[in-house]
Amino acid sequence: MAKFRKLKMAMVGGGPGAFIGDVHRKAARMDGGIEIVAGAFDINPEKSQQMGRELCIAPERTYNDYKSMLKGELALPEQDRVDFISVCTPNNWHFPIARDILQAGFHVMCEKPMTLNVKEAKELKKIVAKSGKVFGLMHNYTGYPMIKLARDMIAKGEFGKIRKVVVQYPQGWLATPLEKTGQQQAAWRTDPKQSGGAGCMGDIGTHCENLAEYVTGLKITEICAELTTFVPGRALDDDGNCILKFDNGAKGLLHASQISVGEENNLAIWVYGEKKGLEWRQEDPNYLKVKVMDGPEQVWKRGNAYVGAKSPAAARATRLPSGHPEAFFEAFANTYCNFTDTIRAVDAGKKPTKLMLDFPNVDDGLRGMLFIETVLASNKSKQKWTSFKK
Ligand code: NAD
Repeated sequence: MAKFRKLKMAMVGGGPGAFIGDVHRKAARMDGGIEIVAGAFDINPEKSQQMGRELCIAPERTYNDYKSMLKGELALPEQDRVDFISVCTPNNWHFPIARDILQAGFHVMCEKPMTLNVKEAKELKKIVAKSGKVFGLMHNYTGYPMIKLARDMIAKGEFGKIRKVVVQYPQGWLATPLEKTGQQQAAWRTDPKQSGGAGCMGDIGTHCENLAEYVTGLKITEICAELTTFVPGRALDDDGNCILKFDNGAKGLLHASQISVGEENNLAIWVYGEKKGLEWRQEDPNYLKVKVMDGPEQVWKRGNAYVGAKSPAAARATRLPSGHPEAFFEAFANTYCNFTDTIRAVDAGKKPTKLMLDFPNVDDGLRGMLFIETVLASNKSKQKWTSFKK
């Protein structure tokens, strides 16, 4: 086998006018190790064909739906088939499509939240284990080098015992009933049948939960949550506040909102230990602020040798020298990089390294779904404090 095997990718979703599928495609191709050769790009077969033409995909490998794609790919000689398939559809499709892909024998990269509910998430976890295939989940914010640096600093004990975690994701784009105008992304996100039991908390609250657990290495054990639907007539929450307890005794706050007028993607995290604190902002992601008791605030800057010396994972996730900004696309590319290096190792019968395995997986997906159900249960309850579901 060649040292570096180019992997063949297919996509479900990401049709004309879709948001995240296009980001996946651009990011996956960033390092030259992945080529997109097939797809069932849209729920509407004509639009799937249109996307295939725009992407110069061979007509015989532009499929009208994902089931025909699985059939078509399995009919090809093994060496010509796709290696993995990315699922970039609305949430309600994640489970059936990921399940069928795994059972057809392909690796999967799936968008978050992983499924529509915990029952599906538990079933998917079993299917992944049985398949022996690699399953990646696109919690892209863990793909940022400065987040990996923060995680490694905390894991080395530099902050002391973690006491407090504050994580937020305010957006303002759903402050009006945008879904009533037919706006595609708003329409399915506010529909419980396509989005799941939570709106804002499922869509972006899960990114906060995943980021907090990834950076601190801690697990949330209890949640006290309040969800609100501010926009009249909307079926799902568009704002939520949670108080958190972690398994080491740390306390936290998590808020996610889609009605915070003027906010774009203001995801940010603050972590405070006995010795140091940190702050990272998604809208300024090349810098990690480290706060100390007895000196000025430090700003750690991506791309510098001192970052790589502290965190090999951050160095591996860096392409440009310091001062040339990297951001959203690169974080997706980093997730793809580790995911596909793991596929190459697994397919060659080798054990993936710890660095390769540094991407969100089915366990993170299940945690996300448990988080949603815990928040929903707490929101409805009288006692409010609710144990993190198992
Ligand atoms: P979108 O509405 O822009 O695109 C969805 C696409 O999926 C459309 O092209 C639609 O036709 C297609 N589709 C729907 N059902 C299909 C099916 N059965 N087969 C083939 N194609 C189908 O939605 P979006 O904003 O791109 O979100 C898609 C997913 O990505 C969601 O699960 C969302 O939560 C997630 N997402 C993640 C991030 C992130 O930062 N990781 C950001 C945005 C969206």
